[in-house]
Amino acid sequence: MRASKDGEHISGAEEIVESDRVKELSQQLLVRALSHPNGASAEINIKVEEIKTKIDKVSALPVTTLTVDSAEQGWLEVKRQLSNIFAKLESRPASNIDNIIATLKNTGKMRGAIIYDIRQNKCITPDPIRGVRVSCVGADNARSYANKNHFAEALTLASKTANAKVIVGEICFSDDVDYVTGYVASKYFGYVRITKLKEVGEKRGGRIYLYDGSKDNIKKCIDYLENTPVIVTGVPESPIIESKTDKLTKAIAQKKETNIWRNIRVRNNSTSFDGVSTVIMASNDYLGLSTHPQVVAVSANAVKEYGVGAGASRLVTGTLPPHIDFESAIAKFKGTESAMLFGSGYAANTGVIPAIASLGGVILSDELNHASIIDGCKLSKAETIVYCHDDMTDLENKAKQYKWQGGLIVSDAVFSMDGDVANLPKLLEIADKYGYFLMIDEAHSTGVLGSTGRGIAEHYGCRNPDIIMGTCGKALGTEGGFVCGSKELIEYLTNSVRSFIFSTAIAPSQAVAAGKALDIIKSQPERIERLKQNIALFCKEFNMPISQTPIIPIIIGDEKKAVEVSDKLLKAGYYIPAIRYPTVAKGTARLRVALSSEHTMEQIIGAAKAIKELNK
Ligand SMILES: *Cc1c(COP(=O)(O)O)cnc(C)c1O
Repeated sequence: MRASKDGEHISGAEEIVESDRVKELSQQLLVRALSHPNGASAEINIKVEEIKTKIDKVSALPVTTLTVDSAEQGWLEVKRQLSNIFAKLESRPASNIDNIIATLKNTGKMRGAIIYDIRQNKCITPDPIRGVRVSCVGADNARSYANKNHFAEALTLASKTANAKVIVGEICFSDDVDYVTGYVASKYFGYVRITKLKEVGEKRGGRIYLYDGSKDNIKKCIDYLENTPVIVTGVPESPIIESKTDKLTKAIAQKKETNIWRNIRVRNNSTSFDGVSTVIMASNDYLGLSTHPQVVAVSANAVKEYGVGAGASRLVTGTLPPHIDFESAIAKFKGTESAMLFGSGYAANTGVIPAIASLGGVILSDELNHASIIDGCKLSKAETIVYCHDDMTDLENKAKQYKWQGGLIVSDAVFSMDGDVANLPKLLEIADKYGYFLMIDEAHSTGVLGSTGRGIAEHYGCRNPDIIMGTCGKALGTEGGFVCGSKELIEYLTNSVRSFIFSTAIAPSQAVAAGKALDIIKSQPERIERLKQNIALFCKEFNMPISQTPIIPIIIGDEKKAVEVSDKLLKAGYYIPAIRYPTVAKGTARLRVALSSEHTMEQIIGAAKAIKELNK
């Protein structure tokens, strides 16, 4: 493409592409010619030529950037680079570097490049009006040409040029008024960007090739530059290239600076941390079932019977009797027709949400929903509308707005960092009224809410939502995720959810353990009662209203202070972690107290006193 106005050159560019990109590229070049910083073009010439010969490939020159404060300093750098190039040649040329630079600066209106013979110390451009124009060159990345990418385009040209045997160096600065960066390129040092070689607004620019060969070779050299098709490989879009390790180092330093760095601590067992006996008030093992002797025993037996792994996805050969047994047990416990088991609650949310969203419509999601719900929404690619936390008026307004397409309303039952309970009756009403599926994440309510631990519906004494999701990793003390609902829903999900289809089934021994945990919850409701008493006791120590759940946040605010208080508590014998951004909003860092039915009265009162003492 060549574009001009009133005989003045405005823009020019060319590219070698596969034939199927010709149309797209022509459109981009047209946009560029009409919106160029040098002015809109009046005459635009787009020419398409077929290349029938073989196309050579050369790699892009390596790039370095020299930052300078002024054009004057920039030209000093150019001089330094040229003497470096000359030092690399077998015999040092006679030419005077100042003379080369002066020649370049006085290019005048020549559109192409000057060829300068460094042995004869003079210009040898055969056509001094036109100059030499490197063409027949393209890059192997499909970049856009609608806006000029000075860097990538110049690097492409310079990489072809540097590949010419008799050209030992090149200096270039753009004639675009808004582009002041120039470069020196050579096969010896690569492409050295110099950030300033002129002032903004200057139209002057030019390009000079340093020729080191015999007179007879000049024609061959120009033919190569102008007519030999070359594709340059590995041209980056931008010159800022960070190494892999630089990227990691920088990202880690940034996280450390903002006090959101996490060090993983080793918990030895349920009563000791970092080797020291500690009261752990952080686990989601609300009923102490992870170490319950009966749960452990059935699990060990199941390992003997079935081995340690399921060996495949549920749909291949991964379904074993323990999976089926747990699914019917959890469905019965939750009062639904059917259920399905996943490797984790995370896998359940990230798999089920996209499968439901693919039925059409939008997703309405509470702003404090768990990360696995947020990730499920992202994976779904459906439009996700976040409503204000627990704000049923906001939800209803939004649900109304999209009711012609419907979709999915999704909420935690118990919000994992605040411990409050979602308004299920109102959620059911809104979902029904406007035709949305309702999905409730019962990770923290299963085994906790309701007099028998059946969860949020029992807590409110109302019916179930369409989709109940939960985890075996919390009050059930084991691991795995589950979804409960109608037979039709589960049949659909079994055939649609990618995290179910394309992931190895959970170990059968885990399913057996979860089933046993469920049995214990059913046969020993006193565990739930004990948990409730512990919650009441702790809240009383703080004179706060009695929490409905065992998750009790003590808000500290500042990230650093929250970590300090948590560290001091550990020294005093209580492990209560600081929860910070990005798990919760910035400036709302907190101690997240999680109580268990197995904590003693002494431990609970001791922890409350220590928190009050250390958080002054
Ligand atoms: C823990 C949790 C999950 C994830 O369950 P895992 O089994 O641990 O993967 C999902 N949702 C909520 C609300 C959670 O708290």
